[in-house]
Amino acid sequence: MLKELDELSIGQKFYDYECKSCGFTKGIPEFLIEEFMQDSIFETGAIAPLEEAIMPKLICPNCRAKFEYKKTDNH
Ligand SMILES: [Zn+2]
Repeated sequence: MLKELDELSIGQKFYDYECKSCGFTKGIPEFLIEEFMQDSIFETGAIAPLEEAIMPKLICPNCRAKFEYKKTDNH
């Protein structure tokens, strides 16, 4: 699944995700984030800019724990 993801991700903006459990990190392409975002937009009824919205939580492909968006400090 991740190999196919890499091929689909050429030219995409990436968001760093990190597993708090095992430390696995991966850049998730924007188009995939937006797909996951559809659910939260539907729940809140509002469309927020991607950077400010609550980033969707994914499942760590390594250990199946929570795979969360890692905010960067360089604003
Ligand atoms: Zn993990």
